[in-house]
Amino acid sequence: MAALQPVRGTRDLLPDAARAHRAVEERAFAVATRFGFGEIVTPIFEFTEVFKRTLGDTSDIVTKEMYTFEDRGGDSLTLRPEGTAPIVRAFISGGLAQQVPVKAFYRGPMFRYERPQKGRLRQFHQVGAEVLGVEGPAADIEVIVLGAHILEALGLGDTVTVELNTLGDLESRAAYRETLVAYLKGRQGELSEDSLARLERNPLRILDSKDEGDRAVVADAPVLADSLNTTSRDFFARVTEGLDSLGVSFEISPRLVRGLDYYTHTAFEFTTTHLGAQGTVLAGGRYDGLCKQMGGPPVPGVGWAAGVERLSMLMTDPPAAPRPVAVVPAGAPEDEVLATRLADRLRRAGLVVDLGYSGNMRKRLKRANTLNARAAVILGEDERAAGAVTVRDLDSGEQTRVALDDLEAALDRYR
Ligand code: ATP
Ligand code: MG
Repeated sequence: MAALQPVRGTRDLLPDAARAHRAVEERAFAVATRFGFGEIVTPIFEFTEVFKRTLGDTSDIVTKEMYTFEDRGGDSLTLRPEGTAPIVRAFISGGLAQQVPVKAFYRGPMFRYERPQKGRLRQFHQVGAEVLGVEGPAADIEVIVLGAHILEALGLGDTVTVELNTLGDLESRAAYRETLVAYLKGRQGELSEDSLARLERNPLRILDSKDEGDRAVVADAPVLADSLNTTSRDFFARVTEGLDSLGVSFEISPRLVRGLDYYTHTAFEFTTTHLGAQGTVLAGGRYDGLCKQMGGPPVPGVGWAAGVERLSMLMTDPPAAPRPVAVVPAGAPEDEVLATRLADRLRRAGLVVDLGYSGNMRKRLKRANTLNARAAVILGEDERAAGAVTVRDLDSGEQTRVALDDLEAALDRYR
């Protein structure tokens, strides 16, 4: 029955996958906390305008990918396709502009109507970082280094490359735009339909096209670097020097762009060769024009977002399930009662405890094995008579009799 399948492009996270997923988020958070970022949680839906105004009418997200619906009150709402616009919206509506710089970290599901494939879902998750209110390159450097530390914490330091580019300031971009459009017009016949539509409204985005014909045209296009003014060159030089001095290696990638008008200066992507075409795990840039475009004060910003599904697939050391201590009553009703009480006591003492709900001792020991339990606490008639239990180390097979009163101490090593 179709209704029993998850919706195309969505998926359940069963316990192993959910644990890896959570580990990615938690490690990312732990690192971001060390960098002084605080969490901001925004709703998963916003007024459609929040995204339309910021992502622009020509972006892939707005034209093709948004889950937009009218609610019962007649408002047009959209499930958030990305996290930056909501953070900036919250920054404005929460009055945080008085407190800049603001360093925000977020996590959560994002929704885009895309063609599902490996590493590409319709509901996926991101963690992201934004610095608002810092004009200088120190913030660009900090967010990139934050990304690098997080990937290191996931064991991916060696498999990921940082690609870096600059889009320059508004003046440089405008100059480049003219040069680029002139060139592209000369090769209009080779461009895809999508790119033709972008030619006037959003030509930089063509540089980012995945269409093969477009790529061939783009390969010979003039590069942005040649249109940069002195201010832009200087800003970029300070970013690269900062990264050099912190030992973050990167490659300059002249065709890396972010298509939207409010992006300025730094753009970057962390990519891996391990995921085929979906190799970008973390991407971001500086967006000095965004806050003003949303109707707020002109506050500069820089940040990135990373795909949690991709990171959790790549993570080198996903955490194993915690190994419990199994409490195993031998069978008499009195044992069952005592087992329930003991399990409760040990859980209060902070141990991970499994108590099978039913079955004979053999069956329960089997379950303890399946759960990879570290030890079994066995209670039977003899033990009851002695006011004790038997603790069996399930790795070594070694058994010891332990008085009930001493149990917590005896199990301390199984924490
Ligand atoms: P692409 O060009 O691959 O579509 P994008 O520019 O749309 O990427 P961003 O919006 O920059 O991607 O998102 C940042 C990160 O979020 C990506 O690098 C990726 O890891 C992840 N991501 C984006 N879209 C998806 C998706 N549909 N499914 C899973 N992860 C995604
Ligand atoms: Mg996309």
